[in-house]
Amino acid sequence: MSIAAAIDTGGTKIVGAAVDDSGKILKEIRVPNTERDGGFILRTYMDLVKTLQEEYSITAIGIGAGGRLDEEKGTVLYAVDIYRNYIGLEIKARMEEAFGLPVRITNDCRAAVLGEQWLGAAKGCRNIFGIILGTGVGGGYYSDGRMIGGVRGGTGEIGHAILHRGGRKCLCGQQGCVEQYISGTALWSIYRERCPESQITSGYEFFELYRQGDTNAVRVLEGFVEDLAECAVNCGNLFDPEMILIGGGLSDTAEYWWEALLKTYEALGNVHTRRIPLVRAECGNRAALLGAARIAFGEREPGSVWSW
Ligand SMILES: [Zn+2]
Repeated sequence: MSIAAAIDTGGTKIVGAAVDDSGKILKEIRVPNTERDGGFILRTYMDLVKTLQEEYSITAIGIGAGGRLDEEKGTVLYAVDIYRNYIGLEIKARMEEAFGLPVRITNDCRAAVLGEQWLGAAKGCRNIFGIILGTGVGGGYYSDGRMIGGVRGGTGEIGHAILHRGGRKCLCGQQGCVEQYISGTALWSIYRERCPESQITSGYEFFELYRQGDTNAVRVLEGFVEDLAECAVNCGNLFDPEMILIGGGLSDTAEYWWEALLKTYEALGNVHTRRIPLVRAECGNRAALLGAARIAFGEREPGSVWSW
């Protein structure tokens, strides 16, 4: 049995885990991602692996990291301007130097799609488009059994497709990006735009208001459903997958919006997209960890793809 150190980098926390080659998570450690700094992120990765090594014989390291990555070189090509000292970070080289183990990296949202493909809702599927809803919005396009990377690490970046022309400003420099409407951050910030007196600063608080029947929260969630359905229809038309997977931390709240989403998706789509099911992720917040372990155990083929 091989054991990998798998790391998932979220907007609010960095999680490290020892995962065996059957996908069993043996130990999990969480560290708040507070400093918004590339040096902090790298140090945290190293600390997590060192801690896991105290208990387990680690044979490989897999990392789901934020932003657009050169997966071959293991470096950060681009990320929105929320981290200092992050673009250019040589994650793979620095980690390999520190541990003398093979290190593979992929975008955190792609890792989530890979995790679901390995052991979750998309198990065994060969063509998946994943929409990953978290603090931001990302995606992953898994085609014919391979995760597609793109020339500059950007395939499937649905979060920065423009959904509302001239709309809300995005950290990427565009206006009206998907991420500004269907992320956890978007829900509470759109709510605050409607209710300037509100002080909420998290998706949890937003859903608390929704549960209490707050009319503005209900309206904001209706907008979220329409926007997400429109995205899903676009992804169906663009990628023609077997399924569209809806994952990420926000999918934990799907009980409040899943039925409405299915109806709206059906209503907005065409004869082609109606044949592509929307599927809710099953691995929860462990999907990206499992995907990171999967790449640690996997082999890389030339041409920006992973395959097994
Ligand atoms: Zn954007």
